[in-house]
Amino acid sequence: MVGASPKASPLLPTFARQDLAFERGEGVWLINREGERYLDFGAGIAVNALGHAHPHLVKALTDQAQKVWHTSNLYQIPEGERLAQRLVDNTFADQVFFTNSGAEALECAIKMARKYQYASGHPERYRIITFEGAFHGRTLATIAAGGQAKYLEGFGPKVEGFDQVPFGDHKALEAAIGPETAAILVEPVQGEGGVRPVPPQCLRGLRELCDKNSLLLIFDEVQTGVGRSGAFFAHQRAGVTPDIMAVAKGIGGGFPLGACLSTFEAGKGMTAGTHGTTYGGNPLAMAVGNAVLDEVLKPGFLDHVEKISNLMRQGLAAIKDRHPSVIEDVRGEGLLLGVKAKVPNTDLVAALRDQKMLTVGAGDNVVRLLPPLIISEDEARDGMARLEKACAALEQAMATERKGAAE
Ligand SMILES: *Cc1c(COP(=O)(O)O)cnc(C)c1O
Repeated sequence: MVGASPKASPLLPTFARQDLAFERGEGVWLINREGERYLDFGAGIAVNALGHAHPHLVKALTDQAQKVWHTSNLYQIPEGERLAQRLVDNTFADQVFFTNSGAEALECAIKMARKYQYASGHPERYRIITFEGAFHGRTLATIAAGGQAKYLEGFGPKVEGFDQVPFGDHKALEAAIGPETAAILVEPVQGEGGVRPVPPQCLRGLRELCDKNSLLLIFDEVQTGVGRSGAFFAHQRAGVTPDIMAVAKGIGGGFPLGACLSTFEAGKGMTAGTHGTTYGGNPLAMAVGNAVLDEVLKPGFLDHVEKISNLMRQGLAAIKDRHPSVIEDVRGEGLLLGVKAKVPNTDLVAALRDQKMLTVGAGDNVVRLLPPLIISEDEARDGMARLEKACAALEQAMATERKGAAE
């Protein structure tokens, strides 16, 4: 066999996986075969909004599994109508297209924006402006939208029609708008890019710019949405609405589910036959999506997210003061928090794993803290205590290294 190595796995090696496998979960905890409990501050990359094995989600999924799993979008799916209506009732949107992932939600958003301009008599307007540090998924179009060289390299010509401007550079943004521009696409808080929030006045500025130039505004709330930011959707805080919004991750609570929301106007070109999906919005996914909303839309749920967020932010600020050689900065909204590390972020993630706490790295040398939104105050404090220990262990290691170098 060519290139066989002793560690060969039948899985395509596109992920540098950690040597950890979990057998079950309970709330904010993941438990491996040896029965070791890990505090999950990664939540499957901001997905398990209600933690692991949430009884309401388990029941919704297993009840549906006894009835019907899949029928295709050739037929009515009443639970999908219901979920769409609830999303519409709680957002700017008039209509919803369900997908299986974030990238597919973005694909729908991108196609919709282009088709809107086409249907408005402007077929020449197909370009979309995006921001440096953005992440929109791993399909050919979404890597072009994200614009990151490391994801584009070697995959042939970049999909045409995306113009990237530096994050926060208003002049460059205005200069990038041309006769072919169709839309602006932005994450209200860059997630993969390093937990970088767009200030509310900038989100409002984007809306004005779009209105002035007849462009559509697309928000990518795949990571920030469904309570993660402390609001149902992060942009709702800024008092601004998009024309199109991509959603995924938290909305399925761990079941693969995404959605593209829009106004009737923005979606006017998406008539029968213009877009499709075999699985998207199937009965299993719709049952789970509705169950997630049952919890997230309960009175007090988002207040809880904000309360834990405040507690954690205070804790993190104190830890930063006590460990300035490990932590440079703390940022984020709700329970999408980022710790910018002074050591390599991979070292901090590893030190936290030694404390049996799971976190996720991000760009800009950041470690993301993304616990399930149902985390209790005690569990949040437990997480802070583990972070403190991880910082102390890293300082100890640095001191030992210095001593070794001096000798
Ligand atoms: C995760 C993510 C995506 C891609 O979602 P997939 O489900 O992995 O396709 C897109 N945009 C943002 C902001 C994300 O965080």
